[in-house]
Amino acid sequence: MKTDILIAGCGCSGLYLALNLPREKKITIITKSDVESNDSMLAQGGICMLKDESDYDSYFEDTMKAGHFENDKESVDIMIRSSQGVIADLEKVGVRFAKDKDGNFLFTKEGAHSHHRILFHEDITGKEITTHLLAAVRELSNVTILEYTTLLDVISKNNVCYGAVIRHQDGTLEKVETDEVVMATGGVGGLFRHSTNFRHLTGDGVAIAIKHGIRLKNVNYIQIHPTTFYSENPEDRSFLISESVRGEGAKLYDKDYHRFVNELLPRDVVSEAIQKQMKKDKTEHVWEDLRPIPTIQLKNHFPNIVEHCEEQGYDPEKECIPVVPAQHYYMGGVWVNHESETSMNHLYAVGETACNGVHGKNRLASNSLLESMVFAKRAANDMIEKEKAAAPVDEATKKAIIDAFDLEEYKDAEALEKKYRTLVLNAMEEADAEDQKKLEEKKRIAEANHEKLKHEVNVHALDDAVNA
Ligand SMILES: Cc1cc2nc3c(=O)[nH]c(=O)nc-3n(C[C@H](O)[C@H](O)[C@H](O)COP(=O)(O)OP(=O)(O)OC[C@H]3O[C@@H](n4cnc5c(N)ncnc54)[C@H](O)[C@@H]3O)c2cc1C
Repeated sequence: MKTDILIAGCGCSGLYLALNLPREKKITIITKSDVESNDSMLAQGGICMLKDESDYDSYFEDTMKAGHFENDKESVDIMIRSSQGVIADLEKVGVRFAKDKDGNFLFTKEGAHSHHRILFHEDITGKEITTHLLAAVRELSNVTILEYTTLLDVISKNNVCYGAVIRHQDGTLEKVETDEVVMATGGVGGLFRHSTNFRHLTGDGVAIAIKHGIRLKNVNYIQIHPTTFYSENPEDRSFLISESVRGEGAKLYDKDYHRFVNELLPRDVVSEAIQKQMKKDKTEHVWEDLRPIPTIQLKNHFPNIVEHCEEQGYDPEKECIPVVPAQHYYMGGVWVNHESETSMNHLYAVGETACNGVHGKNRLASNSLLESMVFAKRAANDMIEKEKAAAPVDEATKKAIIDAFDLEEYKDAEALEKKYRTLVLNAMEEADAEDQKKLEEKKRIAEANHEKLKHEVNVHALDDAVNA
């Protein structure tokens, strides 16, 4: 197959990227599943936007604080400054955000935001955005979308990407000759027993990067959500029991129905307490009691949660529901610069697969849809700029490299999947071990400094005594 630009992934990042590319480019979008099975469709809360200049400092600070100040400041600035442009583009393709009767945006607020700055469409903002982006892309005659088609690898030489290997729905392998490859392959939730992500999102972009020695960043930075509905089936995607439920009074219990944590502590603290309790009790979940929330409020505010519990055979008005922490979001990934270029030439990464450092160690709620689209548009602009500036790649060389590429190692789909899983999970474990080592070293230095200081104080005191 020959195409100008190959985009792997049709979540909000892949689709918005395609919309921002010139119409004369032949673009092929592939997706491992059907077009609707992506995390962008699942986003409930909303999408942040800089309301006006008066909120800039506060929005910046909230993002940095949530990220433990490990964020790339320039990425944060770019995201915030580009937000109004992205929202204007979304409205142009028909996305509807909640507004008052005078047509002004209504803003909501989530945990760790100091102000109301989140736009929303009911509790299905992601679906509203992604279905409109998809409809707009489908109208473009220069874009082809191939469902159930998987990116298996990139074809490269001397750190230049010339194409890709893909697998079609019927299992056939194909080499793709292209000018640019974009990995918009989403998160890593499918690698975890419990995750709110679609199960087919298994960090394929990250695995491909590891295989080729492409630079990674914060590969072990995973966000865990403390409370998702417990399912015995490992194939099920975890259903979120929103934090606002605890905000409204829901309680967490151990196996004997005793409270063991302050439910309103930050996400990571509550998740850790639950994990510890499960280990202590030797259980697969803890209990969440929604009965402290008045019935009317429970039904009006959380209709989807009530419906899901009932579907699973639990009546939250009368009994506790089983909950367990689950992987939710990936802050790390394939390192990219501010134009979403990876460390390999002609290979871009956007959305949750990429790490431009915007989220630091922890993502602020409702920043990810925005970040995905802001940096997807920058990738599109960068491709346009680079094409103007750079000497064209020699087509004959490219063809020769693609032709010579051997497909043998991709024939066994199961073995490849296992290999990629192992690559990513090992990289995460190694990074965890490295972080732990750094932490211990910091502690050791702090203790040594403390001892030195104590010693100096003692010597000083002794000198003073002698002098006296
Ligand atoms: C339950 C839930 C609620 C959320 N709520 C919010 C929210 O309120 N606000 C917010 O900002 N963010 C929210 N997020 C996060 C946000 O939805 C995602 O971070 C964002 O949508 C990621 O977009 P993406 O384009 O990177 O990936 P996705 O939308 O996940 O798309 C990934 C695409 O890659 C494809 N793919 C994967 N591997 C391959 C491969 N090897 N070959 C070909 N295709 C492949 C998939 O099929 C899919 O099309 C939420 C996430 C979840 C799970």
